[in-house]
Parts: sequence; C-alpha cells; structure tokens
Amino acid sequence: MAGASVKVAVRVRPFNSRETNRNARCIIQMKDNTTCISNPKQPKDGAKNFTFDYSYWSHTTVEEPDFVSQEQVYKDIGEEMLLHAFEGYNVCIFAYGQTGGGKSYTMMGRQEPGQEGIIPQMCEDLFRRTGENTDPDLQYSVEVSYMEIYCERVRDLLNPSNPLRVREHPILGPYVEDLSKLAVTCFSDVHELMDAGNQARTVAATNMNETSSRSHAVFTIVFTQRRRDQMTGLDTEKVSKISLVDLAGSERADSSGAKGTRLKEGANINKSLTTLGKVISALAEMGCKKRKSDFIPYRDSVLTWLLKENLGGNSRTAMIAALSPADINYEETLSTLRYADRAK
Ligand code: ADP
Repeated sequence: MAGASVKVAVRVRPFNSRETNRNARCIIQMKDNTTCISNPKQPKDGAKNFTFDYSYWSHTTVEEPDFVSQEQVYKDIGEEMLLHAFEGYNVCIFAYGQTGGGKSYTMMGRQEPGQEGIIPQMCEDLFRRTGENTDPDLQYSVEVSYMEIYCERVRDLLNPSNPLRVREHPILGPYVEDLSKLAVTCFSDVHELMDAGNQARTVAATNMNETSSRSHAVFTIVFTQRRRDQMTGLDTEKVSKISLVDLAGSERADSSGAKGTRLKEGANINKSLTTLGKVISALAEMGCKKRKSDFIPYRDSVLTWLLKENLGGNSRTAMIAALSPADINYEETLSTLRYADRAK
C-alpha cells in the first residue's frame, strides 16, 4: 500500500570535545548499511548488529578521516523525498536521537558551504527544479510554515504569539488554527524565514527557561502544482505537503530525578516519541502486509495527529537516527538504534 514505505537511515557524528576530553572510545562500527554497536562493559560478546537502508559514518579519529557529507545525505534521502512530492505524495522526514546526536545538523545544518542540512538543500533543489519549468500550462506555488510543539502545545515560529489550537477539518484533516503559511518564490525568501524561525525558537526557549531540545520543530513546505488543460481550460491541482521534523531529544527524563515542569516535559516527549514509533511501525508492518488495516494511534499525541496526512495514506516517510559514537552514551545510542529498527 502507498504510504507504508518507511526509509530508515542512521548517522553517527564525530566525537565532540567533551567526549574527546574524557578519552571516550568509539563503540560504533559501520560496514555498508550495517551498524554494529559494542557494549563497553562486555567488549567481547556484547556487540549487536542492525541493518538499515543507510548507515552513515563520520570520521571519529584523525586516522580515519572518512565521512558521509551533508550533500550525500541529501541526495540519498532528501532528493528522493522531493521527487515523491513532485509525484504528488505527501512526505515526511524525521530526525530522531538524543540531544547532541546531530539532529539539527542533519536537518538544518550550519550556514557554511557544504554544511547545509536537508531542509535548506531541499528548498534550494525545489526552486532549481521549478525554475527549469518551460511548460506554460504548468504552474508551481510554494508556501512554508514553521512551528514547534512543546508540551503538547503548538507555537508558530514565523509569528510567535500565544499557543495555537489544533483543530480538525472534516475533509482536510487535522490542522493548526491561525498558523502562518507564507508564500515564497525563491530560496532566499525561505532562508530568511528559516533564520527568523530558528531565532524565535531559541528566544522562546530561553524566555520559558527551557531548551529547544525539549520541543519538536516542524518545518512544512506546501507544494502545489497547477496544470491547465488546454481543451477544457480547467485547472487541476496536485498538492503535496512536505514535513521536515527535528524531534525533541529522546533521552529519558527520569534518570535525573526531574520534578515539576521537567518531569511533565519528559512525560510529554516520551509520549509523543513513543506514539510516533508506534505509528511508524504500524505503517511499516502494513507495508509488509503482516497485518491488514489495524488501528493506528495518531490521536495519542499532537505531533502524530498533526502529521497524520504525512504519515499514512498517500505519503512517503523517512527517518534518520542521529548517534553519538562514544562509549559514554552507550545506553542512549542502543535505545536509538532499537527505535530506528522498529521503524523499518
Ligand atoms: P541535536 O540537534 O541532536 O541536539 P546537533 O545537531 O546540535 O545535535 O549536534 C551537536 C553538535 O555536533 C553540533 O555542534 C553539530 O554541528 C555537531 N555535529 C552533529 N552531527 C555532525 C556531523 N555528522 N558532522 C559534523 N558535526 C556534526
């Protein structure tokens, strides 16, 4: 069935300075599309192998200067999803993993040549392709929105104000009331909005005494292709929604003895990530025809409820799990690999 195909990649980042300073050891190995994690407490027989559509390596030592570039990650995953959008599918790409694992780097990247993540590369590619159109009967339009979901509430990052309400349209499905959806005509328009949105995300987090790693950021591109039929003079429209999601950090909130707001945050994050995992694996199983149409718990979190049209039905989904290479993150990394494994 369409909509059930979930592409899964894992990407390990280089050591950060904290890990280097603590003489952390690398516990991840990758060969082709297989990722192997060894247990630092049982280096001999505690290794586990996982196979994904892609396993992306980054250099972890000076001796091993081998890594997969931002451009390659875009080519494998972003471009494929963009082509599905041109075909009329809704698409969704998630980055999952513990804080500091490399989710934002993968989705947004850095504003340096060769360091841009999937979102800017996809926008650039989209405008390059639409700019090459010479068919006078075909017109494109692009609108973007950018929101974050924190503790099951939605904030508009392009027009920060009070939390917005999630509603349901009888035909179009769930949507965020009053969320800004801005028309853009070139890559620099999108770039400005992305910058403003990222800035708003940081400011909101600081004001509320949170960190942005505790919220999900959802960048959405609504891509419309309008074709005029010369014979009838009528227009037909193909609308694709592209959702690009930098998920909240997956680390468990319980270990630090969190209380009050932190505990509530953690519970909400766990709930939405667990629900997302259930939704994706239910869809993946349906794709393998292991079971027929089963109940899919979209409504159990705001994130999955809002992404309903991007996950089920006429859609294509990809997930990138971002990993630390270091032994000190063994537990979190193993749980990220298990999550990614269930999405296949
Ligand atoms: P997260 O969004 O998961 O919290 P970040 O994307 O902010 O993590 O990554 C943490 C740090 O690691 C950042 O400084 C980022 O630039 C760097 N980083 C992450 N992934 C990579 C990578 N594949 N190659 C190089 N640097 C990376």
